[in-house]
Amino acid sequence: MKIARVRTHLLEHRLAVPFESASMRFDRRSHVLVEIVCDDGTVGWGECLGPARPNAAVVAAYAPWLIGQDPLETEKIWLTCYNALRDQGQRGLTITALSGIDVALWDIKGKHFGVPVSTLLGGRWRDSVRAYATGSFKRDGVDRVEDNASEMAAHRAAGFHAGKIKIGFGVEEDLRVIRAVREAIGPDMRLMIDANHGYDMREAVDLGNRAAEYGIDWFEEPVIPEALAAYRAVRAGQPIPVAGGETWQGRWAMKEPLETGCVDIVQPDLCGTGGFTEMRRIMDMAVLSGVRLVPHVWGTAVQIAASLQFMAALLPNPPRVNPIEPILEFDRTENPFRQAIVTRPIEHRNGVVAIPDGPGLGIEIDRAALAEFRPKED
Ligand SMILES: [Mg+2]
Repeated sequence: MKIARVRTHLLEHRLAVPFESASMRFDRRSHVLVEIVCDDGTVGWGECLGPARPNAAVVAAYAPWLIGQDPLETEKIWLTCYNALRDQGQRGLTITALSGIDVALWDIKGKHFGVPVSTLLGGRWRDSVRAYATGSFKRDGVDRVEDNASEMAAHRAAGFHAGKIKIGFGVEEDLRVIRAVREAIGPDMRLMIDANHGYDMREAVDLGNRAAEYGIDWFEEPVIPEALAAYRAVRAGQPIPVAGGETWQGRWAMKEPLETGCVDIVQPDLCGTGGFTEMRRIMDMAVLSGVRLVPHVWGTAVQIAASLQFMAALLPNPPRVNPIEPILEFDRTENPFRQAIVTRPIEHRNGVVAIPDGPGLGIEIDRAALAEFRPKED
């Protein structure tokens, strides 16, 4: 079996109500899938975290190192591609594009052997995971305090045991939001806060100290990801566990944050940090550093399915009778193509998501939906 073609599929939807995190404004949802076709007709699917068109361009740039290769040789292909653009890459688009390719190759490998990727990774420890609801961005034209509180209350009513809200818009306003959300969801639902690196170190320490009384599970990306000393200062200066890592892509970028105590919880993104091939290494590094791993997930059903396969195989840590179970980040913001592109949507039931057990990623792509959400100018 040889790789015959590498294609990308852009997906786009213009939002009814634009929204913001502390670092980015969204007026549309835009994602890119990777399709790898083999000479025997086997097809694998992947997805790249981050901007769709630049990722698609880098995937196309890798194609000469992929065509004619044996898709089962995932390590060899990963290192060949990494070496090809190492001097210009190491992190960012070179790694996010390679992630989409690697996920597609593992999908092919699973289909070739007739087993889910989780089996290839060493076995399934679980067939379902609890999900936490991600949402509560700052939406245009609405009162953020009321909007976030009612949204999280709706997630609770839908059965979610945990949810995450966006902060980083200013300490005082953020504290009003956190207080209102906690009142709306009651004392038992787990609540996380994500600043999308919108604070400086002093603001993050101030916010963390004053938000702790509202029972916060983790404080995500308090400061910019390059500022590792500031991460350590935030961790030392306030009591909420610190999370981060969605942009520390690849094992080399993960090394210093993990070894120097920047976070309590590391959040590599399977479709951004180098795919299954690199994620396995990062899982081992997190264990060695005594840091919990909760994957970052922000994409379509392809990324969700891939993350679920990884989470099925995620080693219990610590390996005791009742280990800490991983939780799935489950994006609840507007995105009509997120599940439309697969024939069987991956949905939660009472806040729990079943992990597909079919070959590869365990999904089938709906090509009519790919055409429906293709950007009009393409
Ligand atoms: Mg985040």
